[in-house]
Amino acid sequence: MEELIEALSSGSLRLHELDVKLGSKEATRVRRSFLERVTGADLSALDADLPYDQIVGRNCENTIGAVAIPVGVAGPLPVEGSDFRREVYVPLATTEGALVATVNRGASAIRRSGWVRSRTLSDRMTRAPVLETPDLDHSIELARWVEQNLERLRSAFRSTTSHGDLIRVVPFVVGKYVFLRMEASTGDAMGMNMVTRGAQRVVEELLREFPWLRHVSVSGNLCTDKKATSVNWIMGRGKSVSAEAVIRRDVVSSVLKTTPEAIERVVRAKLHLGSARAGTIGGFSAHIANVIAAVFIATGQDPAQVVESSMAITYAEVTESGDLYLSVTLPSLEVGTVGGGTWLPAQRAALALMGVAGSGDPPGTNARRFAEIVASAALAGELSLLAALSSHHLVEAHERLGRAKR
Ligand code: NAP
Repeated sequence: MEELIEALSSGSLRLHELDVKLGSKEATRVRRSFLERVTGADLSALDADLPYDQIVGRNCENTIGAVAIPVGVAGPLPVEGSDFRREVYVPLATTEGALVATVNRGASAIRRSGWVRSRTLSDRMTRAPVLETPDLDHSIELARWVEQNLERLRSAFRSTTSHGDLIRVVPFVVGKYVFLRMEASTGDAMGMNMVTRGAQRVVEELLREFPWLRHVSVSGNLCTDKKATSVNWIMGRGKSVSAEAVIRRDVVSSVLKTTPEAIERVVRAKLHLGSARAGTIGGFSAHIANVIAAVFIATGQDPAQVVESSMAITYAEVTESGDLYLSVTLPSLEVGTVGGGTWLPAQRAALALMGVAGSGDPPGTNARRFAEIVASAALAGELSLLAALSSHHLVEAHERLGRAKR
């Protein structure tokens, strides 16, 4: 150990070289000891028994341990998805006190009223390479050719994966640049590696066809990954999911301590007017990012994709019978049950808790079910916070009016 720390200190050995030399489990321990020596910080709390030999080269480099995040559970949440109907316990990894309790309260109100109905509207991951042509007319020629030769591009894409398929390519021409937004099915994987690999292969095919074409970047940001954009909001990315529920008036009163009218008013004023005035892209919700982030961390999703996955619109109205109708719609929910961090032991257990770990039968089933559960949990979270906001508003209004009277 001393020799290794000496070598790391002198720069004759680099941190990432330890994995080959020692195996990643031991390399993790040595890196931690080296950093403790250099910084004086006690890093023992980062020590965690994980399969580092499988993690390095797949999920993380230069490992020094792991950060434990508390996981709470909300539920049971009754979810009627497109091809399943069951009560689900939803794992939420968070350090925000009250979040789990909030979703749990929403689940309880839903349970007493019936089921959340949740549906996947479309299911395609996207990658949009940017290509440079000599001029605008060449760009138009390329865009037309792509639209007329989908089958050829599709077989190029298919040669890179046994689980993905190219569904559509939407060209965006910007002068001498062309962005090809490729939409692909990805089975149970979120699909970002898969689609990037396939997109690269499609570009190679195009470069063979058009000698004047230049490949600028495999991602041209019209994909769009890890940024809030209108293109995802309108065209969708990953899973586009919508969920709805009707909450009985007496349940709104007994469990949520408010009225359907008060919730409808908050949705109109805050989620729609307020968000419109703020100029949001996809931020027409109370706190959907809270649920998305907590589920993503618990289940090994890519946490940076919370950006577009939490773009949503929440809607509420009072039904003719006086109950509360509530819906949430998430156009770009990027989730998978295989690939990425989903295989890690704790994350896989969290997926298993919801009955969606690993490959579905047929492939794609588990990821779709998972997306429909996530949208349902988001609805439960919205319901509870909207209720809290609306009753708080009422309390505040009563106090203000009361003081004015005094
Ligand atoms: P992945 O970890 O690359 O693995 C997915 C692979 O699992 C598929 O390619 C497929 O192999 C195989 N597979 C086995 N059973 C499957 C099933 N039932 N359904 C679908 N695939 C199945 O996962 P990914 O979802 O493509 O990529 C996720 C990772 O990409 C995350 O770690 C994320 O952080 C990262 N990421 C990458 C980029 C990028 O630009 N590359 C961008 C953002 C995020 P076959 O293809 O051979 O069939």
